[in-house]
Amino acid sequence: ALTKHPEPRGVGLGQEVLENLKRFPHCILLTRVGKFYESYFHPANEVARLLNIKLAHRKSKDGSSIPFCGFPLQHIDKYLKVLVQQQRRFVALCEEFPRYGPLGVVGFDRRVARVVTPGTLIDESFLNQYENNYLLAISQDANAVGLAWIDVSTGEFYSKPATYDVLRDELARIGPREIVLDKELELQKPEKLEHILAEEMHCVSYITPSAEEEDNMQTEPPATPVDEVTEEASFPPVLSEFTQQEKMAINLLTTYLHANLLEYMPKLSRPAREGTSPRMQIDSHTIKALEIRESIREGGVKGSLLSVVKRTSTSSGTRLLARWLCSPSTSIPEINARQALVAFFHARDHFRSDLIAALTSAEDAGRIVQRFLLGRGDPSDLHAVNSAIQVWTALKARIAQERKQEILEAQQPFEDTQWASLDALMARMHDLQELSQRIGAALRATDTSKDSSPAVESDDAEDQDPLVPETPKPLWKLGSNNWVIKPEFSEKLTSLHATLDELLSRREQLQADLQLRYDAPSLTLRSSPAHGMHIHLLRAKRDRSKLDQTAEFVSIAESGSTKCYFFQEWAQLGGQIVETTITLVAAEKEAFESLRMDVNGHASQLRRNARILDELDVTLAFANLAKEMNFVQPVLTEDPVYDVVNGRHPTVELGLLTGGRMFTPNSVQLAPRLQIITGPNMAGKSTLLRQTALIAVLAQTGSFVPADSAHIGIVDKLFSRVGAKDDLFHDRSTFMVEMLETAEILQRATARSLVIMDEVGRGTTVKDGLAIAFSTVHHLVSVNRCRALFATHFHEVTDMLGYSASNTGQGIFEDVGFFCTDLDETDDGHFAYSYRIRPGVNRDSHGLKVAQLAGMPPTAIAVAQDALAWLKSRKEENPEELNSLGQKLSYFCTQR
Ligand code: ADP
Repeated sequence: ALTKHPEPRGVGLGQEVLENLKRFPHCILLTRVGKFYESYFHPANEVARLLNIKLAHRKSKDGSSIPFCGFPLQHIDKYLKVLVQQQRRFVALCEEFPRYGPLGVVGFDRRVARVVTPGTLIDESFLNQYENNYLLAISQDANAVGLAWIDVSTGEFYSKPATYDVLRDELARIGPREIVLDKELELQKPEKLEHILAEEMHCVSYITPSAEEEDNMQTEPPATPVDEVTEEASFPPVLSEFTQQEKMAINLLTTYLHANLLEYMPKLSRPAREGTSPRMQIDSHTIKALEIRESIREGGVKGSLLSVVKRTSTSSGTRLLARWLCSPSTSIPEINARQALVAFFHARDHFRSDLIAALTSAEDAGRIVQRFLLGRGDPSDLHAVNSAIQVWTALKARIAQERKQEILEAQQPFEDTQWASLDALMARMHDLQELSQRIGAALRATDTSKDSSPAVESDDAEDQDPLVPETPKPLWKLGSNNWVIKPEFSEKLTSLHATLDELLSRREQLQADLQLRYDAPSLTLRSSPAHGMHIHLLRAKRDRSKLDQTAEFVSIAESGSTKCYFFQEWAQLGGQIVETTITLVAAEKEAFESLRMDVNGHASQLRRNARILDELDVTLAFANLAKEMNFVQPVLTEDPVYDVVNGRHPTVELGLLTGGRMFTPNSVQLAPRLQIITGPNMAGKSTLLRQTALIAVLAQTGSFVPADSAHIGIVDKLFSRVGAKDDLFHDRSTFMVEMLETAEILQRATARSLVIMDEVGRGTTVKDGLAIAFSTVHHLVSVNRCRALFATHFHEVTDMLGYSASNTGQGIFEDVGFFCTDLDETDDGHFAYSYRIRPGVNRDSHGLKVAQLAGMPPTAIAVAQDALAWLKSRKEENPEELNSLGQKLSYFCTQR
């Protein structure tokens, strides 16, 4: 029996809440009570404040007042977004599970079924469908680091050994929403770790890893590295042993998942070992500075490289694209395989648009499969799995048809080579038709739900307790004939449905008989929690009189317009209907579970197919992009070359185009390897630097690039030192940030790396800056020997490097070349940017012209002009002296 006004509502609820508060002290506890999530006692004050909802009070048995607040079930995602995503709080969700008796729900079991944290989201509506939501565990000792990370919403699970040197970059690339560390580190972390974590506002959690580390690892066979389909093609996966640190990270991660996912904990397979196929390392500053995933100014995806090149049709394809852009390949066979697909689709407009159209209707199978593995998911997800398989089959058929067509139409002997990449990709696809048929045969069509009428009608709202909750899953709602599984699915279901149909028609019959016998057209047979099985009647005079005269009908309740009676025959029949319905609900649940197991058993195949589709999506998207934005196929080689003719910056170009302006293409040839770029501000230096890096990123991702032609030697690491923002939050000056980044580049760049540096040495005195700029260039060419673009407004650096117009750009280092931007003077005496770079050095920084363009008052400009003339006349450091200084320094360095 349900108490109508318990305190807090529900028998024993207050005690349960207090116990849960004790068990989950670090969480915000939300307790499901009927159609609401509620917070009680002192935490209610905070919840009400955080969610901006009303705080109420309720009298407890002993007369004290209990603060509480709550919100309707359907708002849970909205408020989880506030609490978990914005406030980074953990939320313990205490759910209620109905207990059934002969008359339906008789009570509830309540327990915390899950703790929601930023890194353990499953299928919340606020999950960004274009990004992975990774939870990353880091384990470490003095030398080694182990990483393990999982996206609970998709099941992508990886691990890799690492070192402190690369930890920051790994963090930038993975972009975890939450980081898990050993509880031991909560009070004190090694300095290096502390340092790296402090740089970003990471959400860090702590847990004591479980002792049964080995067991954790061996319960499941190793996973097929589902996320590595074609990447692995030329690099067969080596199932090497995990390192000690890696194992510890995996253990830390699984312990944390167990502690928070609780009843939604999936069976975990071993993580895929990341790092078997080689990747371009893009350090953390560079991912941000080049705005690959997010734009600096706008904060979000808008304005980023990702947003400009994104032509993908599915959200999982977009997630793959984002991952590829942040970790381009360094394997030429792999890049060529992707490029071949892009080129193949690029040459077939009609075919391409057909495939894209088919993809658009593809479901996010990866996330759905994961939902099933996590014990969630409902019939609509089963339908989605089915429709995903059908889309795959349709795609396959469309591809086969195209192939046949081409063979038929081929003038010369048909060339298989063009089809090789697509054939290879599609050959890895699993045939899941059987699974699809089983699901199709088991499920009823979806849209029957709307015209369903309850088998046992409930009374009007007036005598229905609004607090009586529905069961958590409306699917199994008692008395509903919203059945999802076809009766033919099993003998049990067939016979139960026959029984129920028979009982329901007896009910129809009985109702009709009674209506006729007692001349009571408004008479209906109903059930409600308050009155049980009863006869319901409108209180029209004519109806009432006859029933009231019969002893069989016992009046049990009346209101202004209705009256209820107990009637033995209906009580019995109704009881049978409820009983059969409950059995049927259980049988359907069983059938659904068997289908779920069927899907779970195919999880790795489903994921692999989904992943192949993602690759199709991204390569089709690259083909579209190339068409739309006029990109060309780059040629990749192992030699450290970089030769791009008329390259463009994709993001800046798009920005200009929307404003109706044209982008000026520029050619960059990194031969000599390092190019010094001088010239006035705002003339396009940093755009040129960034476009040079972005073209390499796009090329190694497998995309075509914005240029007339491109010849690019594989870049193993990409570094940038551009546009320092003040890092006052961390109490570091611009100059310090600049030096930290520069130091790292000089320590790590190799002969295969690409470095772009903008105005190094700007944040200090001219002399310091000049000295640092010179030594940086010197180190890059003589020690790192990498390809580099070095923009500077210290034209004195070029003097030190021995540039003079007469020696045709050749300085003391044969690996250093000189380019510059310019400011053109127009016929009417104004200045304009041409954005075209030319060989040479621009000694005039045109600072005053830029100041003039910016609107500085003419008098101020006049004074500045005088000052400049005077400064120049001092001739203290003339080019010859500087050059001989440079020569001495370079000799001195070589000797060391
Ligand atoms: P600098 O680094 O020399 O100060 P930027 O590269 O930041 O200059 O360029 C400033 C602005 O000039 C850009 O925001 C863009 O609008 C425009 N710009 C730069 N390069 C080009 C180009 N190649 N073609 C057209 N406009 C350009």
